[in-house]
Amino acid sequence: MTSPEQTSPYQNKNADHYVVWHNTSVNQQERAQLKNQQPVVLWFTGLSGSGKSTIANAVERKLWQSGHHTYLLDGDNVRHGLNKDLGFSDDARVENIRRIGELAKLFVDAGNIVLTAFISPFQSDRDQVRALLPQEQFLEVFIDTPLEVCESRDPKGLYKKARAGEIKHFTGIDSEYQVPASAELHIHTEEQTVEQCADEIVRTLIQLGYLAGNK
Ligand code: ADP
Repeated sequence: MTSPEQTSPYQNKNADHYVVWHNTSVNQQERAQLKNQQPVVLWFTGLSGSGKSTIANAVERKLWQSGHHTYLLDGDNVRHGLNKDLGFSDDARVENIRRIGELAKLFVDAGNIVLTAFISPFQSDRDQVRALLPQEQFLEVFIDTPLEVCESRDPKGLYKKARAGEIKHFTGIDSEYQVPASAELHIHTEEQTVEQCADEIVRTLIQLGYLAGNK
């Protein structure tokens, strides 16, 4: 598999020579101080129908209610705009996650708590995003729901289509989901309501010091 950089039609091979990082005069810490929080990416991962989007939305609402500055990057939405030139080949999927990672990094640089809800089935892709950020600014949130439960929920009717052979390479059916090796948060949705799952995540953020000024 070639890397997306090698195949990108936009690549400029000379860019490294004259594109120089410019430090901004207001920095991340100052932006975060104003928001009275520690910026972080909450990277939700799990099977389709596991509850990533539902729980991420519930967490964002709770954070908003307590006066925090957030942004939710959700599944297909990014493919309507920034990533609408990308298909579903292996290369395109890697590039999809790479761009989302860079986008999340910018929102975190702006001082926000960023929630992302993508299946992101491959450990290497999740690790690639993790590597973009300081250790404390990336928390992997594994939404752990057994395949049978996801399939019985089937909120978008996608499992039915995948089982009928109408969708190929569907995660959990004929494409692999790699269970996170060391997710910071591990949420079991079978045993808890959406509300309880969201509360567990917010509680952890409080315990780890993300929701109060300077650590
Ligand atoms: P994903 O974003 O992972 O594809 P969704 O959030 O779109 O999943 O769908 C999950 C579905 O499961 C929703 O219809 C939601 O109401 C339902 N659900 C039932 N119990 C839970 C729970 N404890 N946590 C999250 N979702 C749940």
